[in-house]
Amino acid sequence: MFAKSYFYVLIIFMKIIDAHSHIDYITHDIQPGVVGTICCTTDETQWLDLINMMNVDNRIYGCFGIHPWFVQNIKDGFEDRLYDLLKNNESFFVGEIGLDKYKPDIDIQIDVFKKQFDVAVKLHRTVFLHCVGAWEKIFFILKQYKKSELPVLVIHDFHGSDEILTNLLDNYKVMFSFNKIDKPQYIRRIELENILVETDGKADVILENIITDISDIKNNTYVADIIYNNTQGLLKHE
Ligand SMILES: [Zn+2]
Repeated sequence: MFAKSYFYVLIIFMKIIDAHSHIDYITHDIQPGVVGTICCTTDETQWLDLINMMNVDNRIYGCFGIHPWFVQNIKDGFEDRLYDLLKNNESFFVGEIGLDKYKPDIDIQIDVFKKQFDVAVKLHRTVFLHCVGAWEKIFFILKQYKKSELPVLVIHDFHGSDEILTNLLDNYKVMFSFNKIDKPQYIRRIELENILVETDGKADVILENIITDISDIKNNTYVADIIYNNTQGLLKHE
C-alpha cells in the first residue's frame, strides 16, 4: 500500500515536455505535469502563427517545415524562406517533414523532403521526422550525405520493422518519440536516453500514462526524469 501511494507522489511531481505536438494543441496548458511543448508546423501558412505563439509563451519550442500530407500547397521558394527563418533563429528546428507512402504525390513529397532536409543539414538543425512505409526512400536520401554532417533525427510514432530499427540505431543519431506503446519490443530495444514522449496534437494521448507504460516495460522508476532530461538536451542542442 505504501509503495503504491509513493508511486502516485512520483507521478504528481513528474515534469514532462511534449516532444511533438501541433499548433492547435499546446499541451502545457492542458495536461498535468507538462511544462513545455515542442510544436510542429504542417505547412508554410502555419509558420507565422507559430512564431506569434512562441513570442507570447516561452514554453513553446518551434519546428518549422512542410508535412508530407500537405505538399500540394507548396509555394515556390519555400526552401529559401525556411533557410532564412532558421538562419535567423538558432533555436528553431525542422519539422514535421518526411514521407508517407499512403498519401498522394510521393514524387513531390520526396522533392519537398529533400529540400527541407538539406536546410537542416546546412544549418545543423534537429529534424522531426514523419515516415510511413517509405524508409528505403529516406535511407537513400540520407546516404547522399556524409554521416558526420547528418543532424539528429527525432522519429515520431515509429512503426517500421525490426530491421529498420536496427539500421537506425546502428547508423544514425536518432531519438524516438512515442504517443502510444503498441509495440513494447521497440521500447525494450531503444535505450532510455533516446526515448521521448509526444501527443502528436491528439487530445486523447495522456503523456503521463505513456511514461508509466515505459516505466513498466523498462522496469525503471526514473523514466520521467530521464525523458525530461532527454528533451531538455535536445532543446539545448547538446
Ligand atoms: Zn505530427
